[in-house]
Amino acid sequence: MTMDLKGRRALVVGLGKSGLAAARLLLAKGADVAAADANPSVTPLAGVALRPLDAAAFRDRDLVIVSPGVPLATVRPLAGTLEIFGEVELASRFITEPILGITGTNGKSTTTALTGHLLVIAGQCAFTGGNLGTPLSQRVLTGGRLDATVCELSSYQLEGISSLRCAAATVLNVTPDHLDRYSDLGGYATVKARIFENQRAGDLAALNLADARVAAMPTNPGVQRKGFDPRSANPLAAASVEGKRTLRVGRHGFQLNAATLRGSHNAENALAALLLAGTLVTDAEALQRGLDTYPGLPHRLEPVRVLGGVEYINDSKATNVDSVEKSLSAFEQGVILILGGRGKGAPYAPLRALLQDRVKLILTIGEEAEKIRDELGDAAPVADCGTLADAVDLAHEKARSGDTVLLSPACASYDQFKNFEDRGEQFKRLVRELS
Ligand code: ADP
Repeated sequence: MTMDLKGRRALVVGLGKSGLAAARLLLAKGADVAAADANPSVTPLAGVALRPLDAAAFRDRDLVIVSPGVPLATVRPLAGTLEIFGEVELASRFITEPILGITGTNGKSTTTALTGHLLVIAGQCAFTGGNLGTPLSQRVLTGGRLDATVCELSSYQLEGISSLRCAAATVLNVTPDHLDRYSDLGGYATVKARIFENQRAGDLAALNLADARVAAMPTNPGVQRKGFDPRSANPLAAASVEGKRTLRVGRHGFQLNAATLRGSHNAENALAALLLAGTLVTDAEALQRGLDTYPGLPHRLEPVRVLGGVEYINDSKATNVDSVEKSLSAFEQGVILILGGRGKGAPYAPLRALLQDRVKLILTIGEEAEKIRDELGDAAPVADCGTLADAVDLAHEKARSGDTVLLSPACASYDQFKNFEDRGEQFKRLVRELS
């Protein structure tokens, strides 16, 4: 549903990356644009008046565009009866190629990046972005003809859609997260299911059969529902896991060999990506080439270096115990695991079963050292290192050829680093300096 923005008086709420892109798009389409942000020191944009975020900011406006970082619930009372759109809804009005949409609690970015990669390697022209990387409004500003736009959609973004239609869409999983913002898991799942709400007959809904809430999500008449099952071979699924590293999608078998796609969680992501990309690419060999060459995303099981037969892996994005469970299960033995940082209050006990035979040494950093030793010290040897630099040095000293040094901290980074990216970058630098 395209729209004419000429002469519209828009207010962009939140001038982060997506808000800025939306403001530029509105200007390019001839709207009169103002912006409101609770933080007065945001980057200004020529031609856009910046207002404090209060009711007065909305008074002379007839359209409100909300950035994904700003809860709609805080904007609605201020906006009164004004039309409100999320940034992706605005952008989607100007996108004519099929949109492949991805949401879920975990794995969104990986599945989005992988889907985009599969398309590009198969010779398609595709934009990849949304919640990950480049905002969708930027896709519109860049222009050009594409075969597809692959879009990661967070639940915050899905709250702000009204007509956005995904020619193919997936919900990967729904697990407790963001329950600060949603009253319960059911409410959160309902928002995730909105990714399917504007689909038409012939569109694809890829549903994770291992997640009962996802498998039960409603879709519109005529939408092709395709289930994927990351647990085991499932004759009822359109896509499932056949062997340890073998996937079956329709009648094709695929091998999951890339180091960037280790672990059963990545098998789940790959099944969804293959179903989505499969709506545009039928050449199974091309899809296999894409799986084999997927470069991965930084800080998610990111291979850094092999030194003296020891592989160093940066998994700094693993800021909770759940993620570390996923990552650890991708390895069989010889792991030196760097854990710690600022704790989130969750127990480390779920890691115990995975430590046995697999982890030869735990190295702790940051504030959680004592708690980690208390909870895991009888399941694996633990050495307190304090800093990441000391942990990397000790790992280097203790590791033998065939071992893996894995930074997968299960904690936030804020006690010692700016954020998880900073922690991951420092780890990579330290590892590259080893000799
Ligand atoms: P998101 O964009 O949803 O945060 P990412 O692809 O960035 O997801 O992955 C973030 C972390 O979530 C990974 O480091 C991994 O530990 C975990 N993860 C990835 N995919 C899945 C999945 N399908 N199921 C559960 N956990 C996952």
